[in-house]
Amino acid sequence: MANMVFICEACRRRRVTEVIGNDDPYAPYRVCAECSKRLQQLTLRPLEWFNLAAKHGWQKYLLHDDFYNQDGTKESYCAADMRAPTLDEASRSLERLVDYCITRWNLDAAEYDAFRMFAGESILSELSRRASSGNRHVTHVTLTLCANVLGYIAEPWVRAQYERACEDDMLFSWAEAAAHCLPQPEGVNKTEPCANTPAKTSADAKRRCRGSARRRFWIGSRAMRHART
Ligand SMILES: [Zn+2]
Repeated sequence: MANMVFICEACRRRRVTEVIGNDDPYAPYRVCAECSKRLQQLTLRPLEWFNLAAKHGWQKYLLHDDFYNQDGTKESYCAADMRAPTLDEASRSLERLVDYCITRWNLDAAEYDAFRMFAGESILSELSRRASSGNRHVTHVTLTLCANVLGYIAEPWVRAQYERACEDDMLFSWAEAAAHCLPQPEGVNKTEPCANTPAKTSADAKRRCRGSARRRFWIGSRAMRHART
């Protein structure tokens, strides 16, 4: 873990020389000088964007879909030698496959099917490790994968996330996992408050979760920018 601190999170080649806390001072980007410049100029190369989005989520300002496509490309340039992995390429490694899922705007059957070649316990262990980062978007993806890939295998872990889901305003993400991973009516009973709101489907829940996170993010980032000026 300690040596990871010194390797650039974007290129994963050069040493860290800068800590960029513009988006989130509690979870800053740790990058080399070259990636720092591209990150702040919104000109990351696709693989650099992929590596950062896999750790921090794509909803943060400097990685946002206002500036990048979901494969890290931009309309203004192409960097074939630094492209992000495809689903087939990412599927060769469980860790990289989870990276891939975290960077997607939406997950579908193709991503879920790619997990079939990995053992359920290994998948759960990796998802648990990733969720421990505390990143809200990453946790949302891990809960979605529990629901659609693992089912009852993830029962104890999903149950253990309930309090955190309440505290972090993530009950809608948790509810989908609970519906697939917990025996009923446990999941239903714990998520009844969700049913009393306008969001009626998991898709609505995801959009709402993403929307609220985005609103908080934009408000927060604007506040920080005003504070600096
Ligand atoms: Zn770098």
